[in-house]
Amino acid sequence: MANLPIAVQLYTLRDIMPQDVSGTLRAVAELGYDGVEFAGLHNTPATKLRAELDSLGLKVCSAHIALNLFETELERTIETYQILGCSLLVVPWIGEHLRGEYLVKECSMAKLWQTEMLARVVDECLQLFGGYGYMLEYPISRAYMDARVQRIFAGTNEIMKVIIAKQMGL
Ligand SMILES: Cc1cc2nc3c(=O)[nH]c(=O)nc-3n(C[C@H](O)[C@H](O)[C@H](O)COP(=O)(O)OP(=O)(O)OC[C@H]3O[C@@H](n4cnc5c(N)ncnc54)[C@H](O)[C@@H]3O)c2cc1C
Repeated sequence: MANLPIAVQLYTLRDIMPQDVSGTLRAVAELGYDGVEFAGLHNTPATKLRAELDSLGLKVCSAHIALNLFETELERTIETYQILGCSLLVVPWIGEHLRGEYLVKECSMAKLWQTEMLARVVDECLQLFGGYGYMLEYPISRAYMDARVQRIFAGTNEIMKVIIAKQMGL
């Protein structure tokens, strides 16, 4: 265990990385880490990053890469991470639908929940406008109408509940 290099997963620092890439890397180095695992380069050129990493003594042990980058920009992605001295690229997440999972229950839940929430929100918005909100001349009235139909089309929300219940074996 002694002398085992330790890297920090920069996904953990995803909120502060985009604000200050150089400062975050410096802080990681000052904390005593030996390396990093990238989760996006935040529009920073790889050559600039490599120079900063070298000056801080940080190695890149691996990087999280979205699957679509492998599919659409494989060569450029490999090139970029070679500049960083990174030989291990990781796809951290593959959507369930891409894994061929049957997602009817989850899709129905999403449709039901989101359209019910939309209806609640737009109803509050209309209330805020008072009587004006009810008049067709006002955009909020149009938003209310557009929102209301969401609970009806693409399968009504009552039917969503029936599907979910069946999928749950109820
Ligand atoms: C603007 C608009 C655009 C549309 N575009 C398309 C399109 O592009 N392609 C397409 O195929 N369809 C489209 N539709 C049709 C839409 O999918 C249907 O309106 C929807 O599925 C509801 O069917 P329905 O209107 O016949 O209502 P009904 O099935 O008659 O339902 C009436 C009411 O009874 C309830 N209900 C029915 N059965 C049950 C049950 N078993 N348990 C509990 N409650 C139940 C419903 O939830 C609803 O509240 C569109 C509809 C609208 C309004």
